[in-house]
Formats: sequence, structure tokens, C-alpha cells
Amino acid sequence: MFSATRRAKLFVKTVLESPKWLNILTRQQSSWMENLKSIIVGSNVPKVRQIGDPVLREVAQPVDPMTIHTAEFKKLLEVMIKTMREHQAVGIAAPQIGVGLQVFAMEHTREHMNRLKEMGFTLEDLRQKQMDIVPLKIFVNPELKITNSKMVAFREGCLSLEGFSGMVPRALEVEVRGLNENGEVVTWNASGWPARIVQHEVDHLRGNIYIDSMTYKSFMNNKWNDFVE
Ligand SMILES: [Zn+2]
Repeated sequence: MFSATRRAKLFVKTVLESPKWLNILTRQQSSWMENLKSIIVGSNVPKVRQIGDPVLREVAQPVDPMTIHTAEFKKLLEVMIKTMREHQAVGIAAPQIGVGLQVFAMEHTREHMNRLKEMGFTLEDLRQKQMDIVPLKIFVNPELKITNSKMVAFREGCLSLEGFSGMVPRALEVEVRGLNENGEVVTWNASGWPARIVQHEVDHLRGNIYIDSMTYKSFMNNKWNDFVE
């Protein structure tokens, strides 16, 4: 019998170093690295892909955990976070910058809270919607489990459908499990507004956009009022 360490080493040697496995790794890396290279050339903040772009309708590929520590993957995260912040968004999924991998980032900052207050949300509204500060979170290969299926509708927008919004019913509470930016397994239970962000971003990784599940008649141009003479 081999010891666990010896077995693990053998596994690495026989499986991970086999030409087939290397091929899969190289193929996965090369496709998104190529994409990433073209995204970061000339600009630190790429354009956000807009609805109609096939990448937003494809199911994103799982990330090989072995690539999480590469400089290229760290660059991908950096670009995603920059893009999200540049647009003052609360979340972003990799396909939105043209990279079809299962990765999303989210955060809800003090600035987001202040903007909501400026829009007329009272502290009671914020409390009720569970709109609190959520520090930056990264999920790689996320799995979503609904832990409270009570549906709550609220208005959502998306960087890939700029200028529009719609009311989307979402489950009140979810559990999301995946890898973080360090490749560690993390499980997070979210409720209310953060749970909505998680569901919106995981939808992106499945090729779904909020308009697929919104109540259609609530769809609107956020500036419709500017067109009233
Ligand atoms: Zn979106």
C-alpha cells in the first residue's frame, strides 16, 4: 500500500502530467488567455459586452483550479474588478468582458449605499431589503443552492443592457459555494439584496440575463422621463 502522500504524488504524475490532461489545461488556458490578452491591450478597463453578443448567451466554462494562481488569472480578476468599479456596479461576471469562464465578483460599498439614499431610499428601506455593506467577494466555479425559496421582486439593471431595468423575482436566500481568489473553497449564505446580486451573476455564467426572468411589463428605459416633452 502506498501512503496518502505517495498516492497523491502518483496521481499528479500519472493523471495531471498525462498528455491528455495537459492538453485540456493548455487548451483552456490558451483560449481565455488569448481573449484576455486582446481585452487588456491598450486599455485597463475593457468595454462591457452588450446583449446580442453570443458570449453572454453561452454557458461559461469551469476554471481549472490549477490556473487560479497564475499571473494571467490574477490579471483577469484585476480587470474585472476595475471594470465593475469604473461603472459603479455591484457585480460583474467574466463573460461580460468577453471571457467565458465561471468567475464573478461582487461588492456593495458605502458609496453604493450613499447613492441609494440620494435616490430616495430611507434607512428603513435599506434595512428591509438587507442592503448592507458587502466587501469585495470573488467566486470561481460557483454552485448555487436556494435556501429560502420565498420570491421577492425588485428592480435590476445590468452593465450588458445599459440604461434599462426591470423587476425580477428572486429567491430570498441562497447559499453559494465555490473557490475564492486564493483557490480556497468558500461557502457563503446571502439574504436579500446580496442574494439577488449572487443570483444575477450566477445567471450570467449560465448564459442567462435578467430580462429572461423579469416581469416583462416592468421593463423600462431608466431615462424615459427625459423623453417626455
Ligand atoms: Zn448583469
